[in-house]
Amino acid sequence: MLGLVIKGGTVVTAGSLGTCDVGVQDGRVAQLGAGLTGRRVLDARGAYVFPGGVDVHVHLSSPIEPAPGVELWVDDFYSGSQAAIAGGVTTVGNMTFQRRDEGLRQALARDLAAASRDAAIDYILHPVLMHPSEEALAEVPALAAEGHTSLKIFMVLDHFDAHVNEYLRAMRIAGASGVLTMLHCEDGALIRCVCQDLVAQGLGAPQHYPDSRPDYTESAAVERAIAFTRATRAPIYIVHLSSAAALDACRRARADGLPVYVETRPLYLYLTRAVFEQPDGAKYVGNPPLRETADTRAIWNGLRSGEIQCLCSDHAPWTLRQKLDPTLDITTVRPGVADLETLMPMLFSEGVRGGRVSLSRFVELTSTNTSKLFGLYPRKGTIAVGSDADLVVWDPDARRTIQGATMRSKAGYSVYDGREVQGWPVYTVSRGEVVLEDGQVTATRGRGKWVRRDRPMAL
Ligand SMILES: [Zn+2]
Repeated sequence: MLGLVIKGGTVVTAGSLGTCDVGVQDGRVAQLGAGLTGRRVLDARGAYVFPGGVDVHVHLSSPIEPAPGVELWVDDFYSGSQAAIAGGVTTVGNMTFQRRDEGLRQALARDLAAASRDAAIDYILHPVLMHPSEEALAEVPALAAEGHTSLKIFMVLDHFDAHVNEYLRAMRIAGASGVLTMLHCEDGALIRCVCQDLVAQGLGAPQHYPDSRPDYTESAAVERAIAFTRATRAPIYIVHLSSAAALDACRRARADGLPVYVETRPLYLYLTRAVFEQPDGAKYVGNPPLRETADTRAIWNGLRSGEIQCLCSDHAPWTLRQKLDPTLDITTVRPGVADLETLMPMLFSEGVRGGRVSLSRFVELTSTNTSKLFGLYPRKGTIAVGSDADLVVWDPDARRTIQGATMRSKAGYSVYDGREVQGWPVYTVSRGEVVLEDGQVTATRGRGKWVRRDRPMAL
């Protein structure tokens, strides 16, 4: 008698699809087959059973010290976990920013403490190299040996060019230590130049935001990032790629056999810059900005073809008050939106039901590929005997209209408000525990665990 059996669903992994029961014991998948019996049985007939989502790009902690009057992202590991669970995500990867005078290890310790107190699902942390000192660079190999096998670098930072030698060394050390370098690819100097010009012309209002970061400011950084990989041989993971021009550069690099991996985020699939003509256009601000219809098409094609390997939320939640603050301009708007709860349902509805991506690609994009690249596979990212029982039972027919005000993120709105979405989780299971049922998130604060990672697998 197994602890939990998910009965009669269509079990989908990146490489297989078929009807069977999934038997769970002690938090892991113990048996796959027919006629399994368990103390608890979830009826999955007519539903899909997917590996839980592995969203490796979220912001559930603050880059700066909280202080009176300082505006910060509004979710923490607990509210973020609830949003994740409601949307079928069972593992998150949080960006852990090194604050001033702080080492990478100190930053990780701070977020590990917060997550162990608050997270309700499993998590990994990406150290963000904000200050590439000798001391910080020296920490990378030891952190890798302890299971932190990624490092985030922002090419868009004001001081990036002044420290490019140190950042290149960081990449070389990362590559040699089995660490995947995650890169935010936008050229800060070009963006500052364009912004100065727009402000001087009186075009500094947030409605002009897409013009302040044109696609060449992204593709120039992507080309440079690829050259960094040629020089250092360090594998790179380009976060939130948004444009056809940038994707072209990645396609050529991958054709040359370079270890260049591409993530995009939902914003670029469902929205274009046209929304900035609305009076509340600033609520759609992200870095990079929304693009043209042709870019949207290119991103969808990239997801279908496999040129883009991962779809992550880049959940970076602000409230409408924060987003629409009238004192802000193109240089000070607050980038990022809440998307954890909508990541998988929107892709299922628009992608799978819309005939743009297959079921197996859906699983690859939301779970398997991130698990492989971030050293979690096969513990996460698949449904196999011995894997963690992180599962989502998915009703492909359930319809719901998105209403951010009633969702779990504290953002209080969704950029997809009013859209009808077909296909939602019925049950979410995290290490064998049912954490979503009857529309209720039942996970307790602090039940989530940090996951020690192996080296990245190549895709
Ligand atoms: Zn981000």
